[in-house]
Amino acid sequence: MRKISAIILTCLAVFQLMAATLRCSVCRREIHGRYLICNGKVFCSQKCLDRTLPVCAACHKRCRGKVYTKDGKFYCSEKCLETTFPKCSLCHQPFRKGVVIKTLTGDKIYCPHCAALPRCFACSLPAASGIKLPDGRFLCDDCARMAILTEAAGQELFDQVREEMRRKLNLGTNHKIHFQLVDSKTLLKASANYEPGLEMGLFKHSYTVKTRTETTYSLFKGRQDKTEQYLTNNRYSVSVLSGLPRRKFIEVCAHELAHDWMDAEYPKIKSLKIKEGWAEYVATRVNELYGRQFMNKRMEANTNEIYGDGYRFIRDYIREHGMDGLMRYFSELNK
Ligand SMILES: [Zn+2]
Ligand SMILES: [Zn+2]
Ligand SMILES: [Zn+2]
Ligand SMILES: [Zn+2]
Ligand SMILES: [Zn+2]
Repeated sequence: MRKISAIILTCLAVFQLMAATLRCSVCRREIHGRYLICNGKVFCSQKCLDRTLPVCAACHKRCRGKVYTKDGKFYCSEKCLETTFPKCSLCHQPFRKGVVIKTLTGDKIYCPHCAALPRCFACSLPAASGIKLPDGRFLCDDCARMAILTEAAGQELFDQVREEMRRKLNLGTNHKIHFQLVDSKTLLKASANYEPGLEMGLFKHSYTVKTRTETTYSLFKGRQDKTEQYLTNNRYSVSVLSGLPRRKFIEVCAHELAHDWMDAEYPKIKSLKIKEGWAEYVATRVNELYGRQFMNKRMEANTNEIYGDGYRFIRDYIREHGMDGLMRYFSELNK
């Protein structure tokens, strides 16, 4: 905020006997009888004196007494000066010193009072009212209206996103995926490298590794045992944090389903940057399918070296080599 200063216009109203050559500095009339002096100048009347006072940029009245200046403009009162202050995004009151919070749709500013209110876990903005989930997370009214709070609602939307990805992105598996809506504590416990804010979901593939040995007898080599490992009892699950607004829920499902796909097609890829970068890339494509390109600003701006850098690496690789090129690259990594 630029500097605001206040000056006091002090005017001495003086009554004196007429001096022979005194003229009003505004109307230039000769003065007879009473006159006023202000800042060394002489005025025949209050009206003439008023004409030299600065005009308030807000109410357009003449400024008397304490005058505020800001950006070369004058304001007659604190109230008029306040009209130039930014207004709080929440209580809509003007304030001098606020807090800026960056959001996907631009910066939002809050007065100190509102900035100190509890922040919604989903949109991370302060809110005066909302709901508290059983695990302690706070959800603002706006997010709560669109929140996925029941297993049934979650399952329905999860199936819908999976179908959209199959049909429009040609991406999916025929795994039987067990979907579950979980609270933050469960997600924290289930996820090995969970960092709050980074992932709001989890894909898990668990299995039992079994060994089978085939024995062959040959006339020349005698008995030969060939041992190989195979996976059995494959179980796939996707857990998504409860209480996410619908649009965020869709993004998280897309991310986790991308992990499922990669796990099936390129199971030997170990690089977290590639795995998370791919999942984030797929999430941007699904956001586009649902007409929510603005949500992709999060991935574009993410400074995390696995999620953000990973996403940008995949995005740029496709720009340069096409999707076929990326698949060839995945095949290389999968060896
Ligand atoms: Zn005059
Ligand atoms: Zn004013
Ligand atoms: Zn406020
Ligand atoms: Zn919210
Ligand atoms: Zn992930």
